[in-house]
Amino acid sequence: MTDTVTDPHAARGFAARALAAMAGHGVAPTPRNYAVWFTYVSGRSPGLVHTIDEIAAAGHGFSQAKLDELFARYLAEEAQKEVYTRAERRLQEALTRLLSKLGEATGQTRAYSERLDAWSAELDSAPDGDRLRELLAEIATDTQRVLEKNGVLEQQLVRSTDEIEELRRNLAVVQHEAMTDGLTGIANRKFFDVRLAQAMRVAAAHGEPLSLLLIDIDRFKQFNDTWGHQLGDEVLRLVARTLTDCVKGRDVTARFGGEEFAIILESTRHEAALAVAEQIRTAMMRRKIVRKDSKEDLGQVTVSIGVGLYRPGDTADDLISRTDAALYAAKRGGRNRVASERELPADAAD
Ligand code: GH3
Ligand code: MG
Ligand code: MG
Repeated sequence: MTDTVTDPHAARGFAARALAAMAGHGVAPTPRNYAVWFTYVSGRSPGLVHTIDEIAAAGHGFSQAKLDELFARYLAEEAQKEVYTRAERRLQEALTRLLSKLGEATGQTRAYSERLDAWSAELDSAPDGDRLRELLAEIATDTQRVLEKNGVLEQQLVRSTDEIEELRRNLAVVQHEAMTDGLTGIANRKFFDVRLAQAMRVAAAHGEPLSLLLIDIDRFKQFNDTWGHQLGDEVLRLVARTLTDCVKGRDVTARFGGEEFAIILESTRHEAALAVAEQIRTAMMRRKIVRKDSKEDLGQVTVSIGVGLYRPGDTADDLISRTDAALYAAKRGGRNRVASERELPADAAD
């Protein structure tokens, strides 16, 4: 990723502060972590500044998982944005070239047509045999020249169109990648945020019900500690697959955070959302986790699910925090269960 901090003096200051902050928080000095902290102290990403300040205030320290998440959320995205902007610029340039070629072609055709008019006028005035032969030769040479030029132009146009088509495909790939979680292949948090805002607008405009599920893997830290992070990642993929299997294609299933997932259920009443949540919970319980190589049985992985329902006037944060409170209630109630925001005491729900 290129850095927009160009003033070397300022950059040196940021570098020193970033390293000091990393040491202060016991963060390993890896290039990725450094990128996160450099961006933090430079203040270039207000979202990153806010999140880091929040984590620091909570006082639980910065785990590598958290730092990786920060990188993915705030820096990888910025790098992708740059790729996207570059591809967009190239597309614009290719289109401009194409248009100027088209303009050239039109100009040539017009000039040729004017010459044809002139010849036609001369032919009307009944020229003698010699002049007629001369005229025909002129027309033949000129036509040949125009044909050749058109051939070249046509090749250039085909090349430009191919180039544009390739760029368009690249853009689509970049766009898809920017919205996809690298580990599980489902939608990422960014895509979730965009789609939730959309769904809320639709619900507000048409008075349609809108439900939200937040799904968190139970005792996942323990799973990682026992079986290792790599198998943990496999479980995350398995959960993502189970979730998408349990919902209809139009419902948005996203990785919300580390081991948390979210599902937006549009036009879905609370009772129906509870039923989907229950179906997910039992589907997860039925899945046996087996080690691929040794076929060793690793037991079960369960999930807890909070179910929230959109209320007119909600912000996305309102809806998410009520759903999160329901999820927390499910955890408190013993895990491997579904809890509704409606079961919450009134003060927890507001
Ligand atoms: P609870 O039932 O209360 O949710 O307990 P928990 O252990 O699941 O919750 P906690 O928040 O204490 O720990 C979450 C764990 O999720 C810690 C972290 O190692 C793991 N995790 C987060 N992201 C990833 C990831 O991308 N891969 C793997 N393997 N583990 C992850
Ligand atoms: Mg969690
Ligand atoms: Mg958990």
